[in-house]
Amino acid sequence: MGLGQGLLLRVAKRWIAGTDSASAIKEALKANQRRMSVVLNYLGEEISDPSIADAHMREYLSVQKAISDSGIKGCVSVKLTQFGLLTDETGAIKRLAEVIGRSEALGQMLWIDMESSRVLEKTLQIYLDVLPSHPMVGLALQSYMRRSAKDLETILGKGAKIRLVKGAYKEPPDLVFNNRAEATENYSKLMETLFKKGDDFVIATHDPKLIDQAKELANSGKARFEFQMLKGIQDGLKDKLVQAGYKVGEYLPYGSQWYAYSKRRISEHPSNILLLLRSLF
Ligand SMILES: Cc1cc2nc3c(=O)[nH]c(=O)nc-3n(C[C@H](O)[C@H](O)[C@H](O)COP(=O)(O)OP(=O)(O)OC[C@H]3O[C@@H](n4cnc5c(N)ncnc54)[C@H](O)[C@@H]3O)c2cc1C
Repeated sequence: MGLGQGLLLRVAKRWIAGTDSASAIKEALKANQRRMSVVLNYLGEEISDPSIADAHMREYLSVQKAISDSGIKGCVSVKLTQFGLLTDETGAIKRLAEVIGRSEALGQMLWIDMESSRVLEKTLQIYLDVLPSHPMVGLALQSYMRRSAKDLETILGKGAKIRLVKGAYKEPPDLVFNNRAEATENYSKLMETLFKKGDDFVIATHDPKLIDQAKELANSGKARFEFQMLKGIQDGLKDKLVQAGYKVGEYLPYGSQWYAYSKRRISEHPSNILLLLRSLF
């Protein structure tokens, strides 16, 4: 690793739980000590080589066991393209089935991240196929997608467990809302639907206004839900929510593919550029 990458890794450690599973488990224990559950994600996506897709599956099987052996309150979240979905759907489904099997044997939840629109339809279909026999599997739904209100109605009707996010990919303009404000407005609407018709869902955002709205909706209903936020973002707010008695989870990405992930977090929020610059001087 060059000097530039070494410095960047120092900054990136704010958002990633290390480059290997041992570091991720340590960070998970720290989050548990702050009374947050954890969702571990092994970084990497769009894998086409079956041997790498197998390696990703084995990594999850091993970290699921480590979560259990270490007494950690948490689970994993997977991306279907890291199991090869783009090039070999059957293989990806088989790998997913292995990880679901392990999560059930260990009594853990299993989350499926939602990726770009290239795989949205397939991801949704695979989720709907596994859901009837695997109710402990949950799916992320992105509020920036215009179709999400309809998708939400469909999958809620089938008892889905939803993690509502704004969405993180660059998408063709006709598929998504025009800007962040509209995606936020849609988040607010989808969240109302979740509190009205859903149960056992996740409000995954760092947006203080949406979090306040969720608290209000929670006051007037009985739905079970949890807040989830990414490692290194809104740490003060996470602690406040825990202290106020809300369930909070921290999403902990880890692995050697930390560079692309960190770039996404930096570009999402300009103040992170300052963090980066400060670390250089
Ligand atoms: C638990 C979890 C799981 C996720 N899973 C997925 C997934 O499966 N698929 C997917 O497409 N996306 C996923 N995301 C990412 C998500 O789509 C957004 O890109 C990300 O959460 C930022 O959106 P936001 O809701 O926080 O709102 P934003 O509008 O981006 O931010 C709202 C406020 O939060 C704070 N904030 C947000 N980001 C940062 C930052 N990087 N640094 C500092 N402050 C910040 C700021 O105060 C900002 O004003 C996930 C996010 C979370 C929390």
